[in-house]
Amino acid sequence: MSILVTGGAGYIGSHMVLHLLEKGYEVVIVDDLSTGNMEAVLANKFYKADIKDEKAMAKLFDENKIDGIIHFAAFSLVGESMQEPLKYYENNVTGTLQILKYMNDYGIKNIVFSSSAAVYGESSSPIKENVSANPTNAYGETKLAVERMLKWASKAYGINFTALRYFNAAGSHASGRIGEKRKIETHLIPIALDVALGKIEKLLIFGDDYDTFDGTCIRDYIHVSDLASAHLLALEKMANENKCGMNMIYNLGSEKGFSVNQIVNAVKEVTHINIKTMIAPRRLGDPAELVASSEKIKKELGWLPQYTDIKDIIATAWEFRKKMR
Ligand code: UDP
Repeated sequence: MSILVTGGAGYIGSHMVLHLLEKGYEVVIVDDLSTGNMEAVLANKFYKADIKDEKAMAKLFDENKIDGIIHFAAFSLVGESMQEPLKYYENNVTGTLQILKYMNDYGIKNIVFSSSAAVYGESSSPIKENVSANPTNAYGETKLAVERMLKWASKAYGINFTALRYFNAAGSHASGRIGEKRKIETHLIPIALDVALGKIEKLLIFGDDYDTFDGTCIRDYIHVSDLASAHLLALEKMANENKCGMNMIYNLGSEKGFSVNQIVNAVKEVTHINIKTMIAPRRLGDPAELVASSEKIKKELGWLPQYTDIKDIIATAWEFRKKMR
C-alpha cells in the first residue's frame, strides 16, 4: 500500500513517515519545506511542492498510485494565527479543499486529517469529542472548518475520513534520528530545553493569572510516536472496513494535564539544569486548560500510547535537542 503524507518533512509528519516505513508501507511525501526540513525527509519519494499547486500535484498523482492520504501540511502556530488569520485560512482550509478535489479526481477513498484540541477552546477537562467546539483562536477555527468540510465531502462523495484532534505533541523518535526541529521555535518544551542548553537566556511564561491551580496554562502532552501509531490504526480501519462515507473524530492525548510551571520543573529534573523563567503577558488565543479524554480511540481503535510519563517524553526530546544543529 502506498500512502501520501502531506507535510512529511515536518515534526509530526516525519515521525509518521518513519512509523509507516517501519511497518512496511510505501510512502510518498509532499512538503513545500516552508516549515519542514529536508533532513527530516525519510522516504525516497519526495515532492517539494505546495499542496495547492495543481500542476505539481497532478504529476505526483500521475506518477504514484496512492491508496490513502495522511494530511499534516498546515500552519500550526496559535500566536501567529491571531496576527495573520487569512494566511491560516488560505493554507489550512484551501489546502485541504484541494486535497479533497485530488481525492475525487484520482479515486482515493481514505484520508486521516491532522486536527487539533484547539477546536475546543475553553471546555472543562477532561474533554470528550462530543462537547461543542468553540475555538479561541484562528488556528483552531481553520481546523474546525476543515473537519466540517470533510463531513460534507464525505457525505456527498463517499470519502472516508478520520480527524485526529491532537493535544500537545512532544518528544522525539526513540532512535534520535528525527525530532522537533523548526526554523523558528515557539513551543514550550523545546524552548525550555534551549534554556537548559544555554541557547536562550530565559523562558517567558505566558501568563500566571489563569484560573488554574498555579495560574499558568495547563496542557496535555502526548508523545509524537504515539500520535503516529494512532494515524496508522485509523487508516487501516478505514481501508479494512472498505465502506463509503465513514467519518471518525478522535482525541489524542495522554489524559494528564501539566501546567507550564510543572513542565519547567520536569525539564529541570530531566536535564539537571536550572531553567531561568520570567512571567510575561498572556499569549493571545491561549485557553487556560486543555486535557483530553482519549477513551474513545482506545476503545474503538485499540490505541495504546507507549509513553505515559512526562519525564520520559521530555527525555526523548532532550536527547534529540542536545545533538541538534
Ligand atoms: N508557553 C509559554 N512560554 C513559551 C511557549 C509556550 O509559557 O515560550 C505556554 C503557552 O502559552 C501554552 C503552553 O506553554 O500555555 C504550551 O504552548 P505551546 O506553544 O508549546 O503549544 P500550544 O498549546 O500552543 O499548542
